[in-house]
Amino acid sequence: MNTKHEFPTSTDVLIVGAGPAGMTLAISLQQLGVDCVVIDRAPEAPDDTRAAFVQPRSLEYLRRIQVAGAMIDDGVKPRGFAFADPERDLFRLSYDSVDSPYPFLLIIPQWQTQRHLDQRFAELGGSVLRGVRLLDLVPEFPGSAATVVDSDGALRVINARFVAGCDGVHSRVRDRLGIGFPGSSPQQMFAVADVRFDGWPADRVETAFTLSPHGMLITSPLPKDMVRVVASVAPGTQAPTQQDVADLIQTRGPRWLRNGTVTKLLSSATWHVQERVATQFRQGNTFLVGDAAHTHSPAGGQGMNTGIQDAANLAWKLHHVMRAGAPESLLDSYDAERRPNAQQLIEFTHQIATLATLTGQKQRQMRNDILAALSQVPGVTEALSVRFSQIAIGYGDSNEPFAPGTRVNPDAIGADDLAWSLLTPDAAPPDLPPGFKVTVSKEVPHLVAVRPDGIVAGAEEVHELFGCNLGQ
Ligand SMILES: Cc1cc2nc3c(=O)[nH]c(=O)nc-3n(C[C@H](O)[C@H](O)[C@H](O)COP(=O)(O)OP(=O)(O)OC[C@H]3O[C@@H](n4cnc5c(N)ncnc54)[C@H](O)[C@@H]3O)c2cc1C
Repeated sequence: MNTKHEFPTSTDVLIVGAGPAGMTLAISLQQLGVDCVVIDRAPEAPDDTRAAFVQPRSLEYLRRIQVAGAMIDDGVKPRGFAFADPERDLFRLSYDSVDSPYPFLLIIPQWQTQRHLDQRFAELGGSVLRGVRLLDLVPEFPGSAATVVDSDGALRVINARFVAGCDGVHSRVRDRLGIGFPGSSPQQMFAVADVRFDGWPADRVETAFTLSPHGMLITSPLPKDMVRVVASVAPGTQAPTQQDVADLIQTRGPRWLRNGTVTKLLSSATWHVQERVATQFRQGNTFLVGDAAHTHSPAGGQGMNTGIQDAANLAWKLHHVMRAGAPESLLDSYDAERRPNAQQLIEFTHQIATLATLTGQKQRQMRNDILAALSQVPGVTEALSVRFSQIAIGYGDSNEPFAPGTRVNPDAIGADDLAWSLLTPDAAPPDLPPGFKVTVSKEVPHLVAVRPDGIVAGAEEVHELFGCNLGQ
């Protein structure tokens, strides 16, 4: 894209990085009527698959920004996934009990997710400035001045009231602000390949984590007869060839997959796990969102999903500050809510990756036996599916339904956009501020105000934002 003649010089929100986190934020702001500019250093939208698993909680927000439907049409929708050893299923984790309109794992390559996000942004009149790289960021009252290099190599400056660093794990924004990214790089390496595959059994449309004596292998159907294969490998291993992938399936794969044939290698790579969380997610007018703020093992399919939820949390707050006169202190809650969540996530994915990559034969056998036994314990698979699906993530002290900080099932409030909702046992109060979507429900004992990210607002929060008394 030649950006010369239309290059913006100022904006309310500069979004650096058009990955899933940046685009979710961009669409949300655009939908809410907040001016934003999105830049990405890559000249084209990416074509790699990376994140293949979209969790129910993400779909709930993607529905509010009108992206979920098209993605669901394009993806594979297993009702959960299986832990197995090469000869038997150990543990089936079903999403059937997940209290969501989307009780399934959506499997869709990340490049396709990004196409859907780009398309929605374009529908809203937005366009990403591609081939534009952030070089520097300095304070410039009342916001920041971002120096960028455009696709022709020219230096330009964009003045922005707020800046969102959605620029991935090697974030330039984080670097320019001097925000720490402490953590560790465990000695874990994974190989990933997408292949064409003949012979995936029709009655097994689900992801399998096979815990074999030779290491872990994740096999997952992707749309259009493609298959994702992920394997734990020794540090220093090269990206797998087609033959390597076939060998991995033969040596580690579940019995029911070993009759199939890898017919084509589509992509292949290796990656080292890093486990890091930024020391702060907000510094003044600048925010870190997605992988720029946290990175961890991809085991469990959580990273992109977490970035989408970061964006969901931040977008409505920026909107309130920019357009509804909310105090800037509202923006502090972005760090307060999302950073602890990222820290817990890293512990969770670390546990999964550690369990999946155990090396001692006795330990592995014990792990597999325990998993098989756990599958018989009532409530265990349900609790795990709640965790993987991200459905229970909230920011309050209580998990009681409709307590402040808990998430509300979007079907309970007809949540199809970024409006605030009010659940009421009776008629809506006469002093209800405009813009609330009201649902009468006998399930709630009192008024419950729900934020545009699906979280129950506390009474104080509502009072501060709207000057009225709603909720607990
Ligand atoms: C093999 C693999 C499998 C994975 N599987 C899953 C999964 O199943 N589910 C899941 O939830 N997650 C998964 N993840 C993680 C997921 O891919 C990431 O968490 C996700 O891409 C992060 O999104 P993001 O928008 O934060 O950053 P990114 O996708 O990294 O996007 C950052 C963008 O910023 C741009 N950028 C960088 N620097 C600059 C700059 N200076 N100026 C302008 N632009 C810049 C980049 O070009 C890029 O487009 C997987 C990751 C890997 C490696």
